[in-house]
Amino acid sequence: MISTELLIVGAGAAGLSCAIGAAREGISEIVIADALTCPGGILPQCLHRGFGLSMYGREMTGPEFLAELLKDMPSHIDLQMETMVNGISRDRTAVLYSKNGPEKISFRYLIIAAGCREKSFYSIPVAGTRPAGVLSAGLAQQLVNLKNADIGERIVILGSGDIGLVMAGRFAELGKTPVAVIEQKEKMGGLARNQHRYIEANHIPVITKATVDEVHGYPHLTGVTVKHLDDGRREFIPCDTLITALGLIPEKTLAAGLYENGCAPDWLAYSGNSDFVHEIVDGVVRDGLKAGKEAAEYLRKDV
Ligand SMILES: Cc1cc2nc3c(=O)[nH]c(=O)nc-3n(C[C@H](O)[C@H](O)[C@H](O)COP(=O)(O)OP(=O)(O)OC[C@H]3O[C@@H](n4cnc5c(N)ncnc54)[C@H](O)[C@@H]3O)c2cc1C
Repeated sequence: MISTELLIVGAGAAGLSCAIGAAREGISEIVIADALTCPGGILPQCLHRGFGLSMYGREMTGPEFLAELLKDMPSHIDLQMETMVNGISRDRTAVLYSKNGPEKISFRYLIIAAGCREKSFYSIPVAGTRPAGVLSAGLAQQLVNLKNADIGERIVILGSGDIGLVMAGRFAELGKTPVAVIEQKEKMGGLARNQHRYIEANHIPVITKATVDEVHGYPHLTGVTVKHLDDGRREFIPCDTLITALGLIPEKTLAAGLYENGCAPDWLAYSGNSDFVHEIVDGVVRDGLKAGKEAAEYLRKDV
């Protein structure tokens, strides 16, 4: 069994910042484990500008922001990529799964910086077939921006939070047809700058007070039915792709078994989107540095 003082689950903006914060306070044994091949979490797939304004005074893409963050990473941090963390126990051990198989690690303090999950389309009431061509926004972003995949031509986006807006703009930039953004609230969500940059600048139609309540086509999507929530009217919109951006759920399942009588152990902390959903990465980094510092304070006391 290997051992470390601080184990961090996730090498996104949060996990990296926690490690930097703890290292600045003198913690020498830090392991970060992440299931992906490269550090940064969702940052490498975010090719749009909008990162770092409050921290660095300029707007960067996700990869540019990540490059800045990595400059602050001390070399002694043990970054284990393609390594999934599973089975954390109350005796302060966890199982790491990598290409080499399972390996147990003991730790004195644990930070879960595992990001969040996207809310699934089929968790809302939807009638119709279950065709190909329905994708969550995060997965679509990964396929389009990292794998250069061509996922469709006529695209409906359900949900007008920042992720939905960014993806609508990205499809317009790629020469696709974002047919409409559908939003159940009275107004579009997301940051004002994103509404302007991605929706208004590309003249993408937005249908508010509406949802998608039926999908059509099999094996591939041929259209969706949009239900207007004020008068119940239903409208068929032909499309070959439905992108769902229905919200994010902080990833906390990993630590579910660690609670006793509803209380978390004092050696466990969450950071970044695992803690709560952050709209802006600068806040993730600030919280991460603080969480790293608090981990160091705990480790100094708990000898
Ligand atoms: C589409 C989109 C656009 C955004 N646009 C902007 C923007 O323009 N400007 C801005 O400031 N912010 C933006 N944000 C917000 C910001 O980027 C995020 O809040 C931030 O990057 C989240 O960082 P994180 O480290 O908490 O999570 P993530 O980046 O999700 O990192 C979590 C990491 O944990 C790993 N992990 C999870 N579970 C395990 C496990 N069991 N074992 C091992 N590894 C695990 C994952 O592989 C992942 O690498 C955007 C977010 C999204 C999703």
